[in-house]
Amino acid sequence: MSYLVEVNHLKKYFPLKKGVFSRHKDFVCAVDNVSFGISKGETLGLVGESGCGKTTIGRTIMKLIEPTSGNAFFDSNNLFLLNPKKLREIRKKIALVFQDPYSSLNPRMQVRDIIAEPLTTHTDIKNSQLRDKVLELLSYVGMGKEHMMRYPHQFSGGQLQRISVARALALNPSFMVLDEPTSALDVSVQAQVLNLLADLQETFNLTYLFISHNLSVVEHISHRVAIMYLGRIVEMGPTKNIFANPLHPYAKALLSAVPNPDPDHQQEEVILTGDVPSPVNIPEGCRFHTRCNYKMPICQRIEPDLKEKEPGHEVACHLY
Ligand code: SF4
Repeated sequence: MSYLVEVNHLKKYFPLKKGVFSRHKDFVCAVDNVSFGISKGETLGLVGESGCGKTTIGRTIMKLIEPTSGNAFFDSNNLFLLNPKKLREIRKKIALVFQDPYSSLNPRMQVRDIIAEPLTTHTDIKNSQLRDKVLELLSYVGMGKEHMMRYPHQFSGGQLQRISVARALALNPSFMVLDEPTSALDVSVQAQVLNLLADLQETFNLTYLFISHNLSVVEHISHRVAIMYLGRIVEMGPTKNIFANPLHPYAKALLSAVPNPDPDHQQEEVILTGDVPSPVNIPEGCRFHTRCNYKMPICQRIEPDLKEKEPGHEVACHLY
């Protein structure tokens, strides 16, 4: 299958210096050998507890941080090997929406200038065309000319996230990394922003990497889901399969805590014991074995690889 976005064996280790004179370095293993692909027009939801590495993946793909090793392809271009000029060109096709619209938008700029900034920086748009283009972008997110001259503090969180999305659309991207785009918003507003993102995806055939710790939100918007634990993907597959029949013990525990609207649905919540191990000191073998109720002797020695269990549904666990 050919993907618009493909990540292969991505690793990101952050060095930790022990002391001024110490030569020995420890590493925070944020992302460890992660691979996935996203087809054009598809949404891949990347979920896991905070600190599991999902945000680092998004930022490494965007080249906001340097990878330790691995590759990330966009439209068959290896983002990690492009020269700066070509990378700037390709980056116009990739947009990032941050979690917190309150801090990601410049409080001293009017909305008109916030949205116009990528256009004036990266295109030859004429001043006479700028106003119409900004209005067009605002209309995509359900806003209008009455909002153009206002400052960020004059908007609600939901409106600010709409402005962030309008700005992200300015250069006509085909791939968007959405990093917890609804988690700073009230629950009532989250659904509106999710529906807006789904509508925009359909209109512009956008491809999304949707990063979130909220499983209900991910279920709502994603075609496929990848579940991360301590820097690795432990299960990945179509959203319906993962939510109806999670395979990995960690995925089972996470999903057992998601409320089910069906009153006849009987589901026992699986309580995980123990803390997530430190990413500086990853356990040998399966990195989930310190918390797993199903662990076997092999689990403490050999790290399981992600293997296909059903068509398109992969899991990294020795039980399968
Ligand atoms: Fe549990 Fe072993 Fe599977 Fe890891 S490999 S999730 S420890 S059963």
